[in-house]
Amino acid sequence: MSEPFFARLPKDADLLDSITGAFKERSISKASFTLIGAVEGAILAYYDHQERTYKSKQFSGLMEITSCSGNVSFKDGQIFVHAHIILAGHDFQCYGGHLMQGAKIFAAELHGVPVSGETPERKFDDPTGLFLWAEK
Ligand code: ZN
Repeated sequence: MSEPFFARLPKDADLLDSITGAFKERSISKASFTLIGAVEGAILAYYDHQERTYKSKQFSGLMEITSCSGNVSFKDGQIFVHAHIILAGHDFQCYGGHLMQGAKIFAAELHGVPVSGETPERKFDDPTGLFLWAEK
């Protein structure tokens, strides 16, 4: 099994794509991670459980990534990253949600932690409308 790793992600790249790339490069399909740094703009989402859809909102400007964590598993047979993030702007106000593509990296430090055992596969879960792991 792979070791935990640190990675500095490239400036100006998309944050979600870069996190995914860091795990794909290492062929790690089951992991958890934390990340800190800063982004220029981001799109966060909130899952509306009544409408069963993600509602997204765009944020602009340079913001600190005060916290970002998530996990890695399979969806449609591919390495898939699920990440949540909290961002703080110049006024120290924080916004958080489900991380979507569209956050441009200013600086990002990733700590990836591989998890042993079989990689779970995300499947459509009718009660929630989400793609979740099987209950165990
Ligand atoms: Zn989420």
